[in-house]
Amino acid sequence: MEDLPFTFQVTALKQYVYCPRILYYQTVLPQVRPVTYKMEAGIEAHLRSEGWEKRRSLRAYGLDEGERFFNVPLLNTGLMLSGEVDMVIQTAVELIPVDFKHAKRVGKHYKLQLMAYGRLLELADPKEERQVKRGFLYLIPGKKAVEVRFTPALRRQLDKSLETMHDIAHNQRVPGPAASLAQCIDCEFRRFCNDLTR
Ligand code: SF4
Repeated sequence: MEDLPFTFQVTALKQYVYCPRILYYQTVLPQVRPVTYKMEAGIEAHLRSEGWEKRRSLRAYGLDEGERFFNVPLLNTGLMLSGEVDMVIQTAVELIPVDFKHAKRVGKHYKLQLMAYGRLLELADPKEERQVKRGFLYLIPGKKAVEVRFTPALRRQLDKSLETMHDIAHNQRVPGPAASLAQCIDCEFRRFCNDLTR
């Protein structure tokens, strides 16, 4: 079977935003990955289910009509990015990605992930029959859908993040440490970061 090309998973953006060095360890040195590393994404996946979403009205998204597709796989080799978005709402004029999160607030990494799903959806629809101009983060604890507009600034942020991530992976460049040392306290990769000042 033909080998699939290397792609980053959309979920890698979360590690990148938290600390680019975590992305380096996971991508370039995967053998050093501690087995205790907490896979929050896995916990979230466990909580996702089409069942309760199907019972919910599309009014949660401010929509009167639309067809829902669940666990939609997406891949673009040019962007070297892949992922599986929890849900896509297709209307007559739009494709809208929806990511379910077990969180009370919208973090910037969530917006970036959603933008990435949006970009992959755009590229999967080359005739641009439908617009991809926004998505929703569904915050499970508060049962609230938060709209995220795919602004030029968010698009640029995604492009810049992907560019840096691929630079880290292909040039095996060790990024600097986390922005705040407070982020390192509970990091399972702490023992590999010998250049930290404490
Ligand atoms: S210990 Fe700190 S700098 Fe090192 S990978 Fe973890 S968060 Fe990043």
